[in-house]
Amino acid sequence: MPSVTDVLSRKSGVIVGDDVLNLFKYAQEKKFAIPAINVTSSSTVVAALEAARDAKSPIILQMSQGGSAYFAGKGVSNTDQKASIAGAIAGAHYIRAIAPTYGIPVVLHTDHCAKKLLQWMDGMIDEDEKYFKEHGEPLFSSHMLDLSEEPKEENIAIVKKYFERVAPMKQWLEMEIGITGGEEDGVDNTGVDNSALYTQPEDIYDVYSALSSVAPYFSIAAAFGNVHGVYKPGNVKLQPALLGKHQAYTKETISSKTDTPIFLVFHGGSGSSKEEFLTAINFGVVKVNLDTDLQYAYLTGIRDYVLKKKDYIMAQVGNPDGEDKPNKKYFDPRVWVREGEKTMSERVKVALEDFQAAGSV
Ligand SMILES: [Zn+2]
Repeated sequence: MPSVTDVLSRKSGVIVGDDVLNLFKYAQEKKFAIPAINVTSSSTVVAALEAARDAKSPIILQMSQGGSAYFAGKGVSNTDQKASIAGAIAGAHYIRAIAPTYGIPVVLHTDHCAKKLLQWMDGMIDEDEKYFKEHGEPLFSSHMLDLSEEPKEENIAIVKKYFERVAPMKQWLEMEIGITGGEEDGVDNTGVDNSALYTQPEDIYDVYSALSSVAPYFSIAAAFGNVHGVYKPGNVKLQPALLGKHQAYTKETISSKTDTPIFLVFHGGSGSSKEEFLTAINFGVVKVNLDTDLQYAYLTGIRDYVLKKKDYIMAQVGNPDGEDKPNKKYFDPRVWVREGEKTMSERVKVALEDFQAAGSV
């Protein structure tokens, strides 16, 4: 059986550099996308890894700025992004240490970084460079810059500046152009004009042209009516077929032999239909961000447990079986947190199946 690990130099654990490039190339060729799971704790990390191991798939684990701060602890002040920097680094070391145990390739990524959060990015890249000096590779496989709120020229210029900094480490960079609706990490786009919610093929080519002159390690999240979070269907309609136009335009402009010269990323995947995902994957999407659906999935296991065991968790001792019966085995966090891990893991498995990544390892 062909396996994605055939094209990787590191078969399991966190992969970097050309392995990341080869993973995405392979995914594009075989027409699957890898879900990017937002992780905020060791518990959500292992839930995602367990799903990928069981479904025999690579996985992308990503930490957002807020999720990174949570990794450091909500009690830590985030002045100057200190908690987000420390939390991301701590999470990265944890993921690097545990990932090989699961026997699958893992991309260690950070999520949306807007202009006002660049201090966070600077802190992480400082650490990448330190790690690179010691180990010959960056700490993180990849980062994501989201300057989509800024004018296009500024967006591309800032992304290119960062890309030139990380390219010597062969670190992957994901960028966003066009506006994704909804709200994420305090950036509220719920009132944005509709036309801005669809990226134009020329914009994508401009990004491609600026970044491909530096290195091949980049991907583009284009807006095609996607929305962060799950909302009731509104004015904006998801149009994954637009991604085909982006690819065709760049292919023609650079006379590319491949139909999908660009690595595309699907943001705001929660709530989309399987058909929409498959259309997007067909047009070269290699990564799909999923957060909201997984947050909810994580809750359901814990919610159902608490509701079902309600009478066994109201006190340390005493339950319907007897007033002197101990409840320790019901309130141990390893029991009820585990229920959330199980339901989250099941939901990740569904994504791996939907995006056709399952069975690729
Ligand atoms: Zn986005």
